[in-house]
Amino acid sequence: RQQEKEQIVGGHEFAAKLYHYILNNSAEGKPALDYLRSRGFTDSLIETFQIGFAPPHWDTLVQYFVKREFSLPLMEKGALIAAKSSGGYVDKFRNRIMFPIRDARGSVIAFAGRTLGNEQPKYLNSPETALFRKSRVLYNMHAARAEVKRTNQIVVFEGYADVIKAWSAGVHNSVATMGTALTEEHALLMRRSAERIVLCYDGDDAGQSAAYKNLGLLEKAGLDIKIAMLPNKLDADDYVETFGADRFRKEIIEGAVPTEKFRLLHLRRNFNMQDNEAKLRYVRTAIREVIAGIESPTGREHYLKELSSEFSAISSFETMKQETNEIREQEQKKRRNGDNNEFSWNTVRN
Ligand code: ATP
Ligand code: MN
Ligand code: MN
Ligand code: MN
Repeated sequence: RQQEKEQIVGGHEFAAKLYHYILNNSAEGKPALDYLRSRGFTDSLIETFQIGFAPPHWDTLVQYFVKREFSLPLMEKGALIAAKSSGGYVDKFRNRIMFPIRDARGSVIAFAGRTLGNEQPKYLNSPETALFRKSRVLYNMHAARAEVKRTNQIVVFEGYADVIKAWSAGVHNSVATMGTALTEEHALLMRRSAERIVLCYDGDDAGQSAAYKNLGLLEKAGLDIKIAMLPNKLDADDYVETFGADRFRKEIIEGAVPTEKFRLLHLRRNFNMQDNEAKLRYVRTAIREVIAGIESPTGREHYLKELSSEFSAISSFETMKQETNEIREQEQKKRRNGDNNEFSWNTVRN
């Protein structure tokens, strides 16, 4: 089995080299290369991330595997090629820009393939195999490791392109998930390498909601989190292309805000801030959902001051503080009752 895995990794390493060569050196790869360059992927980035191109033919990789005497059934097991019902094999990836995905040791174990245009699906990822477990793999973790150690921090992006452009901006401690949700396993994996996380998700609604949803998961893993906020509609890749690497690093990454601030800003999306009733509902929600949950009294005071100075027409600092304390007392009472219930349940069972 170990030998099988090594052969499947060998197939991936070979495919990565071949796709990379085709991108850089063939007429077939030229449109893909032009596309990448038009998006700001320099030769140096293409080299560093070993980006490649899978030609549109049915069997480019299959033919090379035959010539180099790779086992085709094993390459199928590794999801690099697929068996035809009529016999024989076809390539899994065709006419796509190829991003090799490496495991923690740096071996290529999967690919993400992107279309050159707007065809769907935009990204085709390798399916789960014995080598590739999406909930455990973080794109670029291997290359990021040294900088993650040095900074005690990991920057998490939504996409491959974001990681690559961040790298070009000198942010070398970054990773991305495989287009799937962040899992508890990812969080624990990150916690083993660093204590601090910067989440930098896309500025659209989907990205911001995903960031909000992931906070609890990351906090539970004991990670200290900040949020790097992008303007609406832009992702990290777009931002670097539009405003440049320096501004990205200084304003977006170094300007990452504490989770409390992000939560307060995010909640606003649900309220129409032109309307006084809605403002009142926002203030009450902000106190209940965010401020009352802050453990440090100084922290609570800080955000209450901000909130009350912005919404002084709605309520005073003192009243807001009183509301915060009442909510905290209710929560504490609930928790005590909860504990008692659990105790009596245990007693009954015993
Ligand atoms: P690009 O900049 O190349 O357009 P992106 O990274 O900005 O790509 P998003 O649409 O923001 O793409 O999606 C973020 C991530 O989600 C992608 O990097 C990819 O991992 C994953 N993803 C997006 N679309 C798909 C898809 N159709 N199938 C599988 N994964 C996808
Ligand atoms: Mn997105
Ligand atoms: Mn994006
Ligand atoms: Mn993008």
